[in-house]
Parts: sequence; structure tokens; C-alpha cells
Amino acid sequence: AKGEGKGQWRRYQPDLHTAITERLTLRTELDAALAGDQLDVEYQPIVALSSGHTVGFEALVRWNHPTRGRLGPQAFIDLAEESGLIEPIGEWVLRHAIEAAQSWQGNGRANRPYVSVNVSAWQFRNSTFADKVLAELTDHGVAPGLLMLEITESLLVRDDDRLWRDLARLRQAGVRIAIDDFGTGYSSLSYLRAVPLDVLKIDRQFTSTIAASAKQRALVDGIVRLAHTLGLEVIAEGIETSAESTLLTVLGCPYGQGYLFAKPLPLPATYAWLARH
Ligand code: C2E
Ligand code: CA
Ligand code: CA
Ligand code: CA
Repeated sequence: AKGEGKGQWRRYQPDLHTAITERLTLRTELDAALAGDQLDVEYQPIVALSSGHTVGFEALVRWNHPTRGRLGPQAFIDLAEESGLIEPIGEWVLRHAIEAAQSWQGNGRANRPYVSVNVSAWQFRNSTFADKVLAELTDHGVAPGLLMLEITESLLVRDDDRLWRDLARLRQAGVRIAIDDFGTGYSSLSYLRAVPLDVLKIDRQFTSTIAASAKQRALVDGIVRLAHTLGLEVIAEGIETSAESTLLTVLGCPYGQGYLFAKPLPLPATYAWLARH
């Protein structure tokens, strides 16, 4: 058994070493990506389910890696958070998203969609986060009401005065705060009465099962009622079929996003999209 263990160690060691080396490489590359214009933002339409009219877009970051191709955030956001790079990356995404919102309201466009940006808990460690967001809006002449920030439940259970002050300040200025992936994180709902919130986003894990399961439908029904009672807007994520869209509408969910309507679009494609939706 002893020999086996040694053998295993010998077998696994190179893999562990490779994993660490790969991470270090990726971190260096991510640094370069930020400096070298390899990051990119796509925008997924958020629509009114009853009319199909576009009300906003969620900004989703991409990385055009020089050798590995186009990478989704799942491939590098964790690393960005661990390495502290999430702060400059987050600011980069925020600036581009606000520029996008500015471009959507130009040229006398009839509809002025909002932009919704994912914000990592780490970004709130910086005491100037709220200032930076508000300054960016002012610089681009974008009304705070056209910006939504998506945060997760895990962030809200933190006992962090600065975070709460920042959220309250942003919200007071008119920026809307959404809770992302609702129902997937912490089971305690007590934060809902304390946090300054505007929007609740129903996670895809609920959306994708409502057509098949009465229990899941009951859960979504409960979430939508809870949101309405608390005066929150609701957006369902990951809608892939018209059956899901119809059920959500019946349950009183007014807004949604998902492949049924559109995949995340490069910025230029959003203009053509807006002309039709
Ligand atoms: P999320 O905030 O839950 O974003 C929704 C994810 O679901 C996106 O994946 C989107 O492309 C995908 N999606 C949208 N509609 C559908 C659908 O109908 N079916 C399916 N199967 N998927 C759908 P993506 O772009 O890979 O982003 C993954 C996660 O990365 C996001 O999840 C978000 O948590 C994070 N993320 C993205 N951009 C940023 C960013 O700029 N900053 C931070 N901190 N996190 C980001
Ligand atoms: Ca999100
Ligand atoms: Ca989400
Ligand atoms: Ca999700």
C-alpha cells in the first residue's frame, strides 16, 4: 500500500505542477489581455415577455485569447478575483457598458435601453467604487437610471459597512441594484428586508425546469409573488423555449432573457437588434 501511495504521488505530482504553472501563465496572460485590448463585452437583450420589446442589455465579458480562442468568463473570472485583477477588469467592463448605453441613446433613438453590469464582491473593497461608477456615468452623460448593477446573494450576507453604504449611495443616485442568480445561494432571506434592492433575477436553474416540473413552477410562483410583495422587479434568466416564456408570463414574471430571444451580441449587432425590437 505504501508503494502504491508513492506511485500515486509520483503520478499526480506532475499534474499538480502543470495546473499551478497553467494558472500562473493564465494570470500573466490576463494581465496582458487587459493592457492589450483582448477583452471584449457582449450584450444580451432583456425583453418584456408580453411584447418582446427590449428594455435593456446585460453586459457579459469575453476574452479573445491569442492561442486559446474566445474565452467565456467562467474560464477566468475566478482567477481574476483571486489575483485582484477583477478590479481593473470590472472597471474596464463598466466603462464599456456605460459607453454602450450612451451609444444606444444617441441619434434620437426612441427606446433607451439600460445596461446591466455584473459586479464582483471584490470591487466593493475599493472605497472609491461608488464614486467611480457615478463619475463614469457623468462623464458619458448617461442617466444613473440607465445603469443596473448585478450582485450575488453571497455578497449581501457579508457584514460590510462600506459595501452597504456604497450600495445605498449608488441607489440614491438612481442606479438600480439587482440580485443575480436568486435562489441558488444562501437560504436565509432575511437580507431581503435590509438591502436596498430594485430587481430580482431568477436563475436559469429555475427557468429551465418550470415546463417539466410542477414543483419548480410552484417555486417560481413563490419567487415572483415575493418579489411583487417587496416591490421588486423580476427578470427570468436563461429562457430557451416559448413554453418557458409563456409559463413565466402566466406566473406574472414581466421580463426575461435567454437564447429564445437572443444570445449575447457584439455591440455593433445590438443596433440592428434595437431597430427590430
Ligand atoms: P450570469 O450573470 O448568470 O450570466 C448569464 C449567463 O448565462 C451568461 O453566461 C449567458 O451567456 C448565459 N445565458 C444567457 N441566456 C442563456 C440561455 O438561454 N441558456 C443558457 N444555457 N445560457 C444562457 P456567460 O456569458 O458565460 O457568463 C457567465 C457568468 O460570468 C455570468 O453569469 C456572470 O456571473 C459572470 N460574468 C460575466 N461577465 C462578468 C463581468 O463583467 N464581471 C463579473 N464579475 N462577472 C461576470
Ligand atoms: Ca448576471
Ligand atoms: Ca445570473
Ligand atoms: Ca446564473
